[in-house]
Amino acid sequence: MLDNATPASKSKSKSKPRRPKRDELKAGECLCDFCTGKCCRYFSLPIDEPRNWDDYDAIRWYLAHGQTIVYVHEEQWYLMVLTTCQYLLPDNRCAIYLSRPKICREYTTDACEYDDPSSFEKLFETPEQIWEYAEALLPPRRRPARAGGPGLPIVTIGTSSPIVVE
Ligand code: SF4
Ligand code: SF4
Repeated sequence: MLDNATPASKSKSKSKPRRPKRDELKAGECLCDFCTGKCCRYFSLPIDEPRNWDDYDAIRWYLAHGQTIVYVHEEQWYLMVLTTCQYLLPDNRCAIYLSRPKICREYTTDACEYDDPSSFEKLFETPEQIWEYAEALLPPRRRPARAGGPGLPIVTIGTSSPIVVE
């Protein structure tokens, strides 16, 4: 996403291989001119904090799809989907800059991920990771009750006493 940059100004990025730090920007320069459009290559949605096995099972399913990450930032859980916006051009400009969605227009470079090392309080990248986390936190998962109730006696012809099948 762009802050104050225009599509034209961001097009300068190819001729500026130097990648300055945020505080090295000169007057008139925009961070987006030096960026690979990091904020246009994913989206994140807040999700409820998981509290039981079913909640963790849902997160396991999110992660099983790949290109997904679940993370916690300032105690809020998020699902991140790593997918590039269809309007991001090969030179990292926005193809619909003047009519881009509101969320893009309101995003600024003030605290963007240009130089963010992406440190999260918690980060889960695979189904196995979230499952191990759940196993460490939750009591053992109870098996669902079998239909018909437990231990019904089954009488087998030819024996003198019932055989109970567990
Ligand atoms: S619409 Fe433009 S600014 Fe918004 S995510 Fe897509 S490429 Fe980026
Ligand atoms: S991550 Fe920051 S610098 Fe990079 S395109 Fe988005 S707003 Fe601009």
